[in-house]
Amino acid sequence: MNLLIMGPPGAGKGSQAVIIKERYNIPHISTGAMFREAIKAKTKTGLLAKEYIDKGELVPDSVTIELVRERLQADDTKNGFLLDGFPRTIAQAQALDQILSEVGKKIDKVINLVVDEEILVIRISGRRVCKTCGETYHIVNKKPKVEEICDVCGGELIQRADDNVATVSNRIKVYYEKTRPLLNYYDDKGILINIDGSGEIEETFRYVEKIMEDANDLT
Ligand code: AMP
Repeated sequence: MNLLIMGPPGAGKGSQAVIIKERYNIPHISTGAMFREAIKAKTKTGLLAKEYIDKGELVPDSVTIELVRERLQADDTKNGFLLDGFPRTIAQAQALDQILSEVGKKIDKVINLVVDEEILVIRISGRRVCKTCGETYHIVNKKPKVEEICDVCGGELIQRADDNVATVSNRIKVYYEKTRPLLNYYDDKGILINIDGSGEIEETFRYVEKIMEDANDLT
């Protein structure tokens, strides 16, 4: 199944994506994570992306679309994939349809996590990520066993550079202006499913499971 996971910054897309990837054995393709990798490796794309990411702006469509086009050519996407954080603009969504149609594929379901704005800010400002493996934590809701140390790999936990209050409010503003209109785009195609993302990670995943079961019943 080819899936998109959508929702504002802090809605929990990444947390759900990690579980979906494990459970359904499909690759998790996060453009945000790909940009962070590129920044770490100091590639040309990384250096360019950093200028936008640090301000909470979107990286230009042309750069982002090419990144995804290449990634979707990899063999591991043959039996399905989960895109997280892409598309974020109508132009990206149209480009994605085009890329997929060229290989006879399409997006099957779009899972949209619905979360109130106050919860988003609390979640993002408390978020910590492992500098080494990227695992995410929260200072209240998902504490590591040892303070500031990753449970998975023992790496140091840090706050993402774009998780500070000023950048977060711009990211949320950009989401409402540029990304939210995509919900209508997918609703018109009849593939949008809204679920409540304000509860615990496991609670939200139960809604995801239900969507996957219902989709299997139809095939
Ligand atoms: P994320 O990890 O999905 O929150 O993404 C972090 C940042 O990377 C975003 O705030 C954007 O600056 C950039 N980014 C990620 N995905 C995209 C995209 N599809 N289009 C443009 N910029 C993106």
